[in-house]
Amino acid sequence: MGSIQQNINMIKAGLPEGVRLIAVSKNQPVEAVLEAYNGGHRVFGENKAQEAMQKYPQLPDDIEWHFIGHLQTNKVKYITPFVQLIHSVDSEKLLVEINKSAIKNNRVIDCLLQFHIAEEETKFGFSEDEAVQMLRSPEFSALTNIRICGVMGMATFTDDADQISREFTVLKGIFDSLKEKFFARSEVFRELSMGMSDDYRIAIKHGSTLVRVGTAIFGARNYN
Ligand SMILES: *Cc1c(COP(=O)(O)O)cnc(C)c1O
Repeated sequence: MGSIQQNINMIKAGLPEGVRLIAVSKNQPVEAVLEAYNGGHRVFGENKAQEAMQKYPQLPDDIEWHFIGHLQTNKVKYITPFVQLIHSVDSEKLLVEINKSAIKNNRVIDCLLQFHIAEEETKFGFSEDEAVQMLRSPEFSALTNIRICGVMGMATFTDDADQISREFTVLKGIFDSLKEKFFARSEVFRELSMGMSDDYRIAIKHGSTLVRVGTAIFGARNYN
């Protein structure tokens, strides 16, 4: 592996125009984030609310923080003051809580709906039917301080590239269908967040606009 900066440059060089790289800094120290920052990178992803909240004040203000992990409603308040995009909205209850907290912070918060596209039961997310029901509901229309900017999903953890391709194709299909049904005139509904270190090359072939890459930038994570 190269340096953090070399890894970022190499990944970016392989991304089509318009695809953005989220450097996933979960379980990485502030120093590693700073190294990427000093190389010019500005967009980082965290998956734990407390960790994000602790890192945020120690790092430069012009970082764009994305939240990518399962978010419990009681932890929403930790990230709503500064988060730019929540990729992992997996229930209506969570969306309602984000809206409430956004109002308190006098902000409008950008969100993606997470879909369950993998084989594994352990992964979170809406089914397409659940999302359609929510988007049709008057309760959803009443959420003034959130904006739905697209969809997110995680493929099955497998070496089978065909399976990963199929799952990303499903997510792209959900994106297109929701866009047509609910967001045809929306300029903000345009993000398709899919692809991680091992599968982002497949994801960009299927129309990903946001790839979330950790290990291939920072190396293995330290869990302690
Ligand atoms: C950890 C994580 C990533 C990055 O995974 P890598 O395999 O390290 O690139 C991407 N998305 C989500 C939701 C994650 O939790």
